Amino acid sequence: MTAEILSVGTELLMGNIVNTNAQYISQKLCDLGINCYFQTTVGDNHDRLVSAVELALSRADLLILTGGLGPTADDLTKETIADAFGRDLILDPASEEHIRMRFARMGRDMTPNNLKQAMFPRGCIIMPNPNGTAPGCIVEDGVKAAILLPGPPKEMAPMFDASVMPYLEKRSGIMLHSRVVRVFGMGESEVEYRLRDLMEHQSNPTIAPYALSGEMKLRVTARCKSRAEGEIMIAPLIERIKATLGSVVYSTNDQELHEVCAALLKEHNATLAVAESCTGGMIASKLVSVPGISESFIEGSVTYSNEAKMNRLGVKCETLSAYTAVSAETAREMAEGIRRTSGASYGLATTGIAGPDGGTAERPVGLVYIAIAGKAETMVRELHLTGGRERIRNMASLYALDLLRRCFLSDSSNC
Ligand code: ATP
Ligand code: MG
Repeated sequence: MTAEILSVGTELLMGNIVNTNAQYISQKLCDLGINCYFQTTVGDNHDRLVSAVELALSRADLLILTGGLGPTADDLTKETIADAFGRDLILDPASEEHIRMRFARMGRDMTPNNLKQAMFPRGCIIMPNPNGTAPGCIVEDGVKAAILLPGPPKEMAPMFDASVMPYLEKRSGIMLHSRVVRVFGMGESEVEYRLRDLMEHQSNPTIAPYALSGEMKLRVTARCKSRAEGEIMIAPLIERIKATLGSVVYSTNDQELHEVCAALLKEHNATLAVAESCTGGMIASKLVSVPGISESFIEGSVTYSNEAKMNRLGVKCETLSAYTAVSAETAREMAEGIRRTSGASYGLATTGIAGPDGGTAERPVGLVYIAIAGKAETMVRELHLTGGRERIRNMASLYALDLLRRCFLSDSSNC
């Protein structure tokens, strides 16, 4: 099967906008192993659009068009495709309802030309557009097919993923199956360096790295005939990634750190209480977003001032004056204090300088201590984080959650 992309829009020809739609679609076709030999761009001009469609349909099995589905007179794509396939345009009542409701929700009057967006070539497959007014459609005869997508990328890409991918998978007999491996505590360049042998000559399955804020995702994708076949293809690769990167891999099914921690607490029948200073409730908030966490999460206490650290957690006045609030000693007493007073099996604590003010040469912004108190021992880590206040707070939360996760990896005596 060969495909061809036809981008419709005078703005594209004039250089007003970059053709990101063609790039998006090309990547997806390439992932699926569908050959795409031509990409054409044509303006909103009837005659030139007709000739571009005729040429494309003469050499490709599948024509994917973006743009020109809107309500105005220069939106010509549906009419041209209907003509090319010898169909008339008929009104789709469900799409009409969707468009009317969208206008009502926005509190705007619907002009009659908007109904044009509910007209479709007879017998086509209509694709819903949850992010805009104009639905897309697929027109097929026994041999060729044309897929019509809206121009705005925010509408086009979700429609492509939700409706076109399953159609292409069915038509080509090929599907993509992927799993996401998540990594915390190793930089992007080191991850890529360590995985270079696995990534160098990859064709199927493939590993695609993505950097998140302070974390990394690796999407492992197989081109396959079924989910089961795909799983058999990617499982050994995921094992090799885990063996190569070690304990920095915290999930092989796209779970976030707080979700992994919640699952570990539950699995080990353990409970947690958190005393947060610089993270100000971020850890508690992340954990509370997990349904069912009430079984394991006892308490989150934001102990920001020295008084709160002393009164609520029993941090000693001498500790604060000898070492200050941002110190390994204070973090240790915070973690032990919240564990003791809450009765949880683990006490987790953070204290640090999130900035932008409050840093000195010796104790710079980004200096953070995290501590975890368990049954057998208390572990304290010193972090030197960079970035603005929000990034420092978020990274401190992630490191603290990772410290909790690692307790379950290393030894059970602490549980
Ligand atoms: P609308 O209902 O908004 O008119 P439409 O399906 O008719 O949508 P166009 O009118 O062709 O699409 O384009 C609408 C907008 O979508 C453009 O102004 C542009 O911002 C964006 N757009 C269109 N085509 C592309 C493209 N190929 N790549 C990136 N952006 C595009
Ligand atoms: Mg338009």
